[in-house]
Amino acid sequence: MTQSSSSSLPLSFEFFPPKTPEGADKLTAVRQQLYPLGPEYCSVTYGAGGTTQDGTLQTVRAILAEGFDAAPHFSCIGATRASVREQLQQFQAEGIRRIVALRGDLPSGYGGFGEFRYASELVAFIREETGRHFHIEVAAYPEMHPQARNPQADLQAYVAKVQAGADVALTQYFFNSDAYFRFVDEAAKAGADIPVVPGIMPITNSSQLMRFSDACGAEIPRWIRTRLEGFGDDKASIQAFGLEVIVDLCDQLRCAGVPGLHFYTMNQSGPVKAICEQLGL
Ligand code: FAD
Repeated sequence: MTQSSSSSLPLSFEFFPPKTPEGADKLTAVRQQLYPLGPEYCSVTYGAGGTTQDGTLQTVRAILAEGFDAAPHFSCIGATRASVREQLQQFQAEGIRRIVALRGDLPSGYGGFGEFRYASELVAFIREETGRHFHIEVAAYPEMHPQARNPQADLQAYVAKVQAGADVALTQYFFNSDAYFRFVDEAAKAGADIPVVPGIMPITNSSQLMRFSDACGAEIPRWIRTRLEGFGDDKASIQAFGLEVIVDLCDQLRCAGVPGLHFYTMNQSGPVKAICEQLGL
Protein backbone atom coordinates (compact mmCIF):
# COMPACT_ATOMS: atom_id res chain seq x y z
CA MET A 1 0.00 0.00 0.00
CA THR A 2 1.14 3.54 -0.58
CA GLN A 3 1.41 6.01 2.26
CA SER A 4 -1.16 8.84 2.41
CA SER A 5 -0.27 12.11 4.08
CA SER A 6 -2.70 13.05 6.83
CA SER A 7 -3.95 16.20 5.17
CA SER A 8 -4.78 14.44 1.89
CA LEU A 9 -6.61 11.44 3.32
CA PRO A 10 -10.04 11.49 1.62
CA LEU A 11 -12.97 11.39 4.01
CA SER A 12 -16.60 10.48 3.41
CA PHE A 13 -19.53 10.68 5.80
CA GLU A 14 -22.53 8.40 5.89
CA PHE A 15 -25.91 9.65 7.10
CA PHE A 16 -29.31 8.06 7.38
CA PRO A 17 -32.44 9.90 6.18
CA PRO A 18 -34.19 11.70 9.03
CA LYS A 19 -37.71 10.56 9.87
CA THR A 20 -39.11 13.85 11.22
CA PRO A 21 -38.80 17.58 10.38
CA GLU A 22 -36.84 18.01 13.65
CA GLY A 23 -34.49 15.22 12.58
CA ALA A 24 -34.01 16.94 9.22
CA ASP A 25 -33.11 20.24 10.91
CA LYS A 26 -30.70 18.46 13.21
CA LEU A 27 -29.05 16.67 10.30
CA THR A 28 -28.68 19.97 8.40
CA ALA A 29 -26.80 21.34 11.41
CA VAL A 30 -24.68 18.18 11.70
CA ARG A 31 -23.65 18.46 8.04
CA GLN A 32 -22.65 22.10 8.50
CA GLN A 33 -20.46 21.05 11.44
CA LEU A 34 -18.81 18.30 9.39
CA TYR A 35 -18.31 20.10 6.07
CA PRO A 36 -15.24 22.03 7.30
CA LEU A 37 -13.47 18.63 7.38
CA GLY A 38 -13.75 18.69 3.57
CA PRO A 39 -15.43 15.38 2.76
CA GLU A 40 -14.94 14.01 -0.73
CA TYR A 41 -18.64 13.12 -0.63
CA CYS A 42 -21.45 12.19 1.77
CA SER A 43 -23.56 9.08 1.36
CA VAL A 44 -27.13 8.49 2.50
CA THR A 45 -28.50 5.07 3.44
CA TYR A 46 -31.52 3.52 1.81
CA GLY A 47 -34.05 1.18 3.36
CA ALA A 48 -34.92 -1.92 1.40
CA GLY A 49 -38.62 -2.28 0.71
CA GLY A 50 -39.42 1.43 0.46
CA THR A 51 -38.91 2.44 4.10
CA THR A 52 -36.59 5.39 3.53
CA GLN A 53 -36.23 5.73 -0.24
CA ASP A 54 -37.86 9.18 -0.54
CA GLY A 55 -35.89 10.39 2.44
CA THR A 56 -32.66 9.19 0.82
CA LEU A 57 -33.26 11.25 -2.29
CA GLN A 58 -34.34 14.33 -0.32
CA THR A 59 -31.20 14.19 1.80
CA VAL A 60 -28.99 13.64 -1.26
CA ARG A 61 -30.60 16.67 -2.94
CA ALA A 62 -29.93 18.79 0.16
CA ILE A 63 -26.25 17.79 0.22
CA LEU A 64 -25.81 18.51 -3.50
CA ALA A 65 -27.52 21.89 -3.04
CA GLU A 66 -25.03 22.65 -0.23
CA GLY A 67 -22.21 22.19 -2.75
CA PHE A 68 -20.94 18.73 -1.72
CA ASP A 69 -20.96 15.53 -3.71
CA ALA A 70 -23.54 13.00 -2.52
CA ALA A 71 -24.17 9.31 -3.10
CA PRO A 72 -27.47 7.58 -2.45
CA HIS A 73 -27.16 4.02 -1.21
CA PHE A 74 -29.32 1.90 -3.44
CA SER A 75 -30.39 -1.63 -2.62
CA CYS A 76 -31.87 -4.02 -5.17
CA ILE A 77 -33.53 -6.62 -2.97
CA GLY A 78 -37.24 -6.85 -3.80
CA ALA A 79 -36.78 -4.61 -6.88
CA THR A 80 -37.57 -5.26 -10.54
CA ARG A 81 -35.38 -4.34 -13.49
CA ALA A 82 -38.01 -1.77 -14.53
CA SER A 83 -38.08 -0.12 -11.08
CA VAL A 84 -34.27 0.03 -10.91
CA ARG A 85 -34.14 1.51 -14.44
CA GLU A 86 -36.63 4.19 -13.43
CA GLN A 87 -34.68 5.01 -10.28
CA LEU A 88 -31.39 5.25 -12.19
CA GLN A 89 -33.02 7.63 -14.67
CA GLN A 90 -34.20 9.78 -11.78
CA PHE A 91 -30.71 9.83 -10.25
CA GLN A 92 -29.24 10.87 -13.60
CA ALA A 93 -31.85 13.58 -14.04
CA GLU A 94 -30.99 14.95 -10.58
CA GLY A 95 -27.29 15.20 -11.40
CA ILE A 96 -26.22 12.31 -9.15
CA ARG A 97 -22.90 10.75 -10.25
CA ARG A 98 -22.20 8.27 -7.43
CA ILE A 99 -24.13 5.30 -6.09
CA VAL A 100 -23.44 2.90 -3.24
CA ALA A 101 -24.83 -0.27 -4.84
CA LEU A 102 -26.09 -2.92 -2.42
CA ARG A 103 -28.23 -5.97 -2.23
CA GLY A 104 -29.79 -4.78 1.03
CA ASP A 105 -31.80 -6.71 3.58
CA LEU A 106 -35.56 -7.06 3.49
CA PRO A 107 -37.50 -5.86 6.51
CA SER A 108 -39.06 -8.89 8.24
CA GLY A 109 -42.41 -9.86 6.78
CA TYR A 110 -41.58 -8.31 3.40
CA GLY A 111 -41.98 -10.40 0.19
CA GLY A 112 -39.36 -12.15 -1.96
CA PHE A 113 -36.01 -11.28 -3.48
CA GLY A 114 -37.34 -9.64 -6.66
CA GLU A 115 -35.40 -9.73 -9.92
CA PHE A 116 -31.94 -9.22 -8.40
CA ARG A 117 -30.41 -11.77 -6.09
CA TYR A 118 -26.99 -10.25 -5.39
CA ALA A 119 -25.38 -6.82 -5.48
CA SER A 120 -23.10 -8.00 -8.33
CA GLU A 121 -26.22 -8.26 -10.52
CA LEU A 122 -27.18 -4.69 -9.60
CA VAL A 123 -23.70 -3.40 -10.44
CA ALA A 124 -23.78 -5.19 -13.81
CA PHE A 125 -27.26 -3.77 -14.52
CA ILE A 126 -26.18 -0.21 -13.64
CA ARG A 127 -23.25 -0.52 -16.06
CA GLU A 128 -25.48 -2.02 -18.79
CA GLU A 129 -28.03 0.74 -18.45
CA THR A 130 -25.86 3.79 -17.80
CA GLY A 131 -22.32 2.92 -18.91
CA ARG A 132 -19.71 4.87 -16.92
CA HIS A 133 -22.11 7.60 -15.76
CA PHE A 134 -22.00 6.51 -12.12
CA HIS A 135 -19.05 6.02 -9.83
CA ILE A 136 -20.11 2.79 -8.10
CA GLU A 137 -19.24 1.92 -4.52
CA VAL A 138 -19.95 -1.56 -3.15
CA ALA A 139 -19.85 -3.13 0.30
CA ALA A 140 -16.96 -5.27 1.54
CA TYR A 141 -16.82 -7.42 4.68
CA PRO A 142 -13.33 -7.95 6.13
CA GLU A 143 -14.87 -10.22 8.81
CA MET A 144 -17.23 -11.93 6.32
CA HIS A 145 -20.85 -11.11 5.56
CA PRO A 146 -22.99 -12.88 8.19
CA GLN A 147 -24.96 -14.86 5.58
CA ALA A 148 -21.94 -16.05 3.58
CA ARG A 149 -21.21 -19.78 3.45
CA ASN A 150 -17.54 -19.19 4.28
CA PRO A 151 -14.89 -16.47 3.83
CA GLN A 152 -13.77 -17.88 0.45
CA ALA A 153 -17.32 -17.78 -0.95
CA ASP A 154 -17.74 -14.24 0.38
CA LEU A 155 -14.49 -13.17 -1.25
CA GLN A 156 -15.70 -14.61 -4.56
CA ALA A 157 -18.95 -12.65 -4.16
CA TYR A 158 -16.88 -9.51 -3.63
CA VAL A 159 -14.70 -10.25 -6.68
CA ALA A 160 -17.90 -10.66 -8.74
CA LYS A 161 -18.97 -7.13 -7.74
CA VAL A 162 -15.61 -5.76 -8.81
CA GLN A 163 -15.69 -7.66 -12.11
CA ALA A 164 -19.22 -6.36 -12.72
CA GLY A 165 -17.84 -2.81 -12.63
CA ALA A 166 -17.51 -1.47 -9.07
CA ASP A 167 -15.03 1.40 -8.69
CA VAL A 168 -14.47 1.43 -4.92
CA ALA A 169 -15.42 -0.68 -1.90
CA LEU A 170 -16.55 0.59 1.50
CA THR A 171 -16.13 -1.87 4.32
CA GLN A 172 -18.39 -2.91 7.11
CA TYR A 173 -16.89 -1.45 10.27
CA PHE A 174 -14.32 -3.48 12.18
CA PHE A 175 -12.08 -3.02 15.21
CA ASN A 176 -9.44 -5.51 14.16
CA SER A 177 -7.26 -3.99 11.45
CA ASP A 178 -5.65 -7.35 10.58
CA ALA A 179 -8.99 -8.53 9.18
CA TYR A 180 -9.00 -5.49 6.88
CA PHE A 181 -5.38 -5.90 5.74
CA ARG A 182 -5.89 -9.60 5.05
CA PHE A 183 -9.07 -8.91 3.11
CA VAL A 184 -7.36 -6.29 0.94
CA ASP A 185 -4.45 -8.65 0.19
CA GLU A 186 -6.68 -11.61 -0.59
CA ALA A 187 -8.95 -9.53 -2.81
CA ALA A 188 -5.96 -8.19 -4.74
CA LYS A 189 -4.59 -11.72 -5.19
CA ALA A 190 -8.00 -12.77 -6.51
CA GLY A 191 -7.78 -9.96 -9.10
CA ALA A 192 -10.00 -7.41 -7.33
CA ASP A 193 -7.69 -4.50 -6.66
CA ILE A 194 -10.01 -1.51 -6.48
CA PRO A 195 -9.53 0.82 -3.48
CA VAL A 196 -11.04 -0.59 -0.28
CA VAL A 197 -12.01 2.26 2.03
CA PRO A 198 -12.38 1.22 5.68
CA GLY A 199 -15.74 2.00 7.28
CA ILE A 200 -15.24 3.59 10.70
CA MET A 201 -17.85 3.38 13.45
CA PRO A 202 -17.26 5.80 16.33
CA ILE A 203 -17.83 4.17 19.73
CA THR A 204 -20.27 6.30 21.73
CA ASN A 205 -22.90 3.97 23.14
CA SER A 206 -22.10 0.42 24.18
CA SER A 207 -25.54 -1.20 24.05
CA GLN A 208 -26.21 0.20 20.58
CA LEU A 209 -22.78 -0.91 19.38
CA MET A 210 -23.29 -4.46 20.71
CA ARG A 211 -26.70 -4.65 19.04
CA PHE A 212 -25.44 -3.41 15.65
CA SER A 213 -22.37 -5.59 15.77
CA ASP A 214 -24.37 -8.73 16.51
CA ALA A 215 -26.67 -7.94 13.57
CA CYS A 216 -24.00 -7.12 11.00
CA GLY A 217 -21.37 -9.65 12.04
CA ALA A 218 -18.71 -7.12 13.15
CA GLU A 219 -16.62 -8.54 15.97
CA ILE A 220 -16.06 -6.48 19.09
CA PRO A 221 -12.77 -7.76 20.51
CA ARG A 222 -13.06 -9.05 24.07
CA TRP A 223 -10.75 -6.37 25.46
CA ILE A 224 -13.07 -3.67 24.07
CA ARG A 225 -16.28 -5.44 25.09
CA THR A 226 -15.16 -6.06 28.68
CA ARG A 227 -14.07 -2.47 29.16
CA LEU A 228 -17.32 -1.13 27.72
CA GLU A 229 -19.30 -3.44 29.99
CA GLY A 230 -17.21 -2.29 32.94
CA PHE A 231 -18.17 1.36 32.33
CA GLY A 232 -21.88 0.54 32.80
CA ASP A 233 -23.89 3.74 32.24
CA ASP A 234 -20.89 6.03 32.57
CA LYS A 235 -21.25 7.73 29.17
CA ALA A 236 -18.25 10.02 29.60
CA SER A 237 -15.90 7.08 30.19
CA ILE A 238 -17.38 5.13 27.27
CA GLN A 239 -16.88 8.08 24.96
CA ALA A 240 -13.34 8.81 26.13
CA PHE A 241 -12.33 5.16 25.76
CA GLY A 242 -14.17 4.88 22.41
CA LEU A 243 -12.36 7.93 21.08
CA GLU A 244 -8.97 6.54 22.03
CA VAL A 245 -9.71 3.15 20.43
CA ILE A 246 -10.98 4.60 17.17
CA VAL A 247 -8.23 7.21 16.87
CA ASP A 248 -5.65 4.42 17.30
CA LEU A 249 -7.41 2.30 14.68
CA CYS A 250 -7.60 5.17 12.18
CA ASP A 251 -3.99 6.08 12.80
CA GLN A 252 -2.89 2.52 12.13
CA LEU A 253 -4.96 2.42 8.93
CA ARG A 254 -3.63 5.78 7.81
CA CYS A 255 -0.02 4.73 8.41
CA ALA A 256 -0.65 1.67 6.25
CA GLY A 257 -1.79 3.96 3.43
CA VAL A 258 -5.53 3.30 3.22
CA PRO A 259 -7.27 5.14 0.35
CA GLY A 260 -9.63 7.04 2.67
CA LEU A 261 -11.89 6.76 5.70
CA HIS A 262 -15.66 6.36 5.48
CA PHE A 263 -17.38 7.38 8.73
CA TYR A 264 -20.67 5.93 9.90
CA THR A 265 -21.71 9.20 11.51
CA MET A 266 -25.05 7.97 12.96
CA ASN A 267 -26.16 11.56 12.16
CA GLN A 268 -23.90 12.99 14.86
CA SER A 269 -21.03 15.38 14.29
CA GLY A 270 -19.26 15.37 17.68
CA PRO A 271 -17.61 11.93 17.63
CA VAL A 272 -16.39 12.24 14.02
CA LYS A 273 -15.06 15.74 14.61
CA ALA A 274 -13.23 14.61 17.74
CA ILE A 275 -11.63 11.67 15.90
CA CYS A 276 -10.56 13.82 12.94
CA GLU A 277 -9.21 16.55 15.21
CA GLN A 278 -7.08 14.06 17.13
CA LEU A 279 -5.80 12.66 13.85
CA GLY A 280 -4.98 16.15 12.61
CA LEU A 281 -7.23 15.72 9.58
P1 FAD B 1 -24.02 -8.99 -1.71
O1 FAD B 1 -22.68 -8.53 -2.13
O2 FAD B 1 -24.97 -9.42 -2.77
O3 FAD B 1 -23.80 -10.20 -0.68
C1 FAD B 1 -24.90 -10.69 0.09
C2 FAD B 1 -24.62 -12.11 0.50
O4 FAD B 1 -24.73 -12.97 -0.64
C3 FAD B 1 -23.20 -12.35 1.04
O5 FAD B 1 -23.31 -13.32 2.06
C4 FAD B 1 -22.45 -12.91 -0.16
O6 FAD B 1 -21.38 -13.74 0.24
C5 FAD B 1 -23.54 -13.70 -0.85
N1 FAD B 1 -23.35 -13.78 -2.31
C6 FAD B 1 -23.17 -12.77 -3.17
N2 FAD B 1 -23.08 -13.22 -4.45
C7 FAD B 1 -23.21 -14.57 -4.37
C8 FAD B 1 -23.23 -15.61 -5.34
N3 FAD B 1 -23.09 -15.37 -6.64
N4 FAD B 1 -23.43 -16.88 -4.91
C9 FAD B 1 -23.60 -17.15 -3.59
N5 FAD B 1 -23.59 -16.20 -2.62
C10 FAD B 1 -23.40 -14.92 -3.01
N6 FAD B 1 -28.24 -2.02 3.88
C11 FAD B 1 -29.35 -1.31 3.57
O7 FAD B 1 -30.47 -1.88 3.58
N7 FAD B 1 -29.29 0.02 3.26
C12 FAD B 1 -28.12 0.69 3.21
O8 FAD B 1 -28.10 1.88 2.92
C13 FAD B 1 -26.92 -0.03 3.51
N8 FAD B 1 -25.70 0.56 3.44
C14 FAD B 1 -24.57 -0.18 3.64
C15 FAD B 1 -23.31 0.43 3.48
C16 FAD B 1 -22.14 -0.29 3.68
C17 FAD B 1 -20.82 0.41 3.47
C18 FAD B 1 -22.21 -1.65 4.06
C19 FAD B 1 -20.95 -2.44 4.31
C20 FAD B 1 -23.44 -2.26 4.22
C21 FAD B 1 -24.63 -1.56 4.00
N9 FAD B 1 -25.89 -2.14 4.11
C22 FAD B 1 -27.03 -1.42 3.85
C23 FAD B 1 -26.03 -3.54 4.54
C24 FAD B 1 -26.14 -4.48 3.34
O9 FAD B 1 -27.26 -4.17 2.56
C25 FAD B 1 -26.27 -5.89 3.89
O10 FAD B 1 -25.07 -6.29 4.49
C26 FAD B 1 -26.76 -6.93 2.91
O11 FAD B 1 -27.09 -8.12 3.64
C27 FAD B 1 -25.75 -7.33 1.85
O12 FAD B 1 -25.62 -6.39 0.89
P2 FAD B 1 -24.39 -6.52 -0.17
O13 FAD B 1 -24.55 -5.43 -1.13
O14 FAD B 1 -23.12 -6.65 0.54
O15 FAD B 1 -24.80 -7.92 -0.85
